[in-house]
Amino acid sequence: MSTFPPMREELRGETPYGAPQLDVPVCLNTNENPYGPSPAVVADIATAVAHAATCLNRYPDREHVALREALAAYLTRDVAHTGATIAAEQVWAANGSNEVMLQLLQAFGGPGRTAVSFAPTYSMYPEYARDTHTRWVAGRRADDFGLDLDAARALIEAERPHVVLLPSPNNPTGTALAPEAIGALCELVGERGIVVVDEAYGEFRRPGVPSALEALPAHRNLVVTRTMSKAFAAAGLRLGYLAADPAICDAIRVVRLPYHLSAVTQAVATAALGHAPELLGYVDALRAERDDLVVWLREQGLQVADSDANFVLFGTFADRHAVWQELLDRGVLIRETGPDGWLRVSVGTPDEMTSFKSALGAVLEEIA
Ligand SMILES: *Cc1c(COP(=O)(O)O)cnc(C)c1O
Repeated sequence: MSTFPPMREELRGETPYGAPQLDVPVCLNTNENPYGPSPAVVADIATAVAHAATCLNRYPDREHVALREALAAYLTRDVAHTGATIAAEQVWAANGSNEVMLQLLQAFGGPGRTAVSFAPTYSMYPEYARDTHTRWVAGRRADDFGLDLDAARALIEAERPHVVLLPSPNNPTGTALAPEAIGALCELVGERGIVVVDEAYGEFRRPGVPSALEALPAHRNLVVTRTMSKAFAAAGLRLGYLAADPAICDAIRVVRLPYHLSAVTQAVATAALGHAPELLGYVDALRAERDDLVVWLREQGLQVADSDANFVLFGTFADRHAVWQELLDRGVLIRETGPDGWLRVSVGTPDEMTSFKSALGAVLEEIA
């Protein structure tokens, strides 16, 4: 009997990525920045789009040079204290860091090759591996969700991966990687493969936690990915990027689709980068709100993972789905993700946090 549609066998029955997109008063489920752009930023973006529109009959700049220069200048601020700079040839951008990651696996993974990560971690990584026919191996994190370096070493020696994917801070746990782990893993993988540190939430890290960008000069096989979706308050834009050795960017150019970044995307991203201080202006407020939230959750007697991101993983609940549903019934949408019994909440505005706390407080009383 034939089954329609005639898709790849291993994709049958798979469900698409689907964080619920529900219309609720308080949305704390996908780690978005709750603060939208100001009228001045909107006006600047509109002007940039109008300008891009005058040349829409032409294909955009395949190499998105102006945008890469702006991104390189932005990243250089993170490493300036070490005397290093990041050049435009070291930067590559795509439609969200999800596309960057897929391109990395297209170029460095593939049939006969292996990608490794450490669970619990970002749910999309195994899907990129599946989609690129890359063998997927998931190690485990330690009980506190940190990376157990000895266990990681053993797994990498046994599996000899071509791609190691390490979010820092990790999603959904919020855990940052120790800087010595990055160097150690890069050396262990060596020139056989690449180590990708996914810093989607890098801007939210706590004081004293360095960016993996600092390790770029020492490790040719290190790739650091970033996004404009989280701290930069531009999830709707779809712009992710990486910094690495220029040879890695050249490898990606082989697999990228022609003109993958539209002229409109390039124009909006470049205009938004011109307003980086404003768009990033709420990062400090969100970090403070996060730290308060961790304290409050612990005061309720809950377990809470230390967080360097704009979300917090807490638990544990015998029936986490019931807690998630009870919160939703009270107009607060969070995320049912991570290890069994845990839930993840994004950090929102002070008003949103007040709603979340009062809703969760009521639910905790009910289940007590
Ligand atoms: C949100 C997130 C991203 C960002 O994805 P975009 O495609 O840039 O929006 C990347 N990695 C992790 C771990 C994330 O949580």
